[in-house]
Amino acid sequence: MKRIGVLTSGGDAPGMNAAIRAVVRKAIYHDIEVYGIKYGYQGLMEGNIEKMEIGSVGDIIHRGGTIIYSARSEEFKTDAGQEKGIEQLKKFGIEGLIIIGGDGSFRGAQKLTEKGYPCIGIPGTIDNDIAGTDFTIGFDTALNTIIEAIDKVRDTATSHKRTYIIEVMGRDAGDLALWAGLADGAESILIPEVKDEFDEVIERLKRGHERGKKHSIIVLAEGVGSGFDYGKRIEETSDLETRVTVLGYIQRGGSPTASDRVLASRLGGYAVDLLRKGEAGRMVGIQNNKLVNHDILEILAQPHTIDKDMYQLSKELSI
Ligand code: ADP
Repeated sequence: MKRIGVLTSGGDAPGMNAAIRAVVRKAIYHDIEVYGIKYGYQGLMEGNIEKMEIGSVGDIIHRGGTIIYSARSEEFKTDAGQEKGIEQLKKFGIEGLIIIGGDGSFRGAQKLTEKGYPCIGIPGTIDNDIAGTDFTIGFDTALNTIIEAIDKVRDTATSHKRTYIIEVMGRDAGDLALWAGLADGAESILIPEVKDEFDEVIERLKRGHERGKKHSIIVLAEGVGSGFDYGKRIEETSDLETRVTVLGYIQRGGSPTASDRVLASRLGGYAVDLLRKGEAGRMVGIQNNKLVNHDILEILAQPHTIDKDMYQLSKELSI
């Protein structure tokens, strides 16, 4: 393989730049040319493609976002859209593609692979919602952003003796909420994977108050529903004063943590190795600190799961 392309697609995540850098440098190290495809699949169809050099990825390892931008494209989900993309790949002489993104992006990668263009997927999403890898790029950074925010809310919570609900991202996955809740000693962690009875949540809050707790923190994953609705429900059924904070897009930004930079560098380098070996339709990941790769179709068919033991532990620690 003499020429490959790299693109970032779907929701951006801190550490994507470190992954782009690793792909570009590793490929050039092995005498492979790299083309950056801007704005994901949308840019691919439009031929928004530029050659990248060693210097193109200088000074980006510590930056959030993605220097080649991201996009969502409905057109690319169609056969005609994918054919348009393939025409551009042919025009630029690109023989293989590395796609950094979430599960939607991997569906696109699978389609291109089926049509004869070898693709390798790198999991980049703050949600940690992809099977076959212990962590996705961006999860650790988002988690640390959440922790910093909750620590601040905790200060004001203590001053006013209130119950605070912190709504965090994660789409349908509860990983960000679970890890943040455990790391911050939350009273309750509400995630879509486990049904936490409302009465039980109220019971725990009341118990805490009775033994003199100065504040309560509830971490709620967006997949469960609106933090504001939950807060209203608590106020309607108890005498607990409640405040809600929706952290929103701050969770997507910021300089990637060391863990995310190292993960992104390892996965980026490994993805290039797989293309060099002639692999296609694979997703790279990390499991038990070892680099692994899986068939993309198999990964997409697997439901996301959370660590039930960790969830149980969080409950036992918030008695
Ligand atoms: P993420 O990759 O973060 O999960 P999306 O689900 O929005 O984000 O997917 C990103 C993009 O991947 C979509 O906008 C679309 O262009 C492409 N994509 C998603 N699903 C498919 C599909 N079934 N076939 C082809 N391309 C797809």
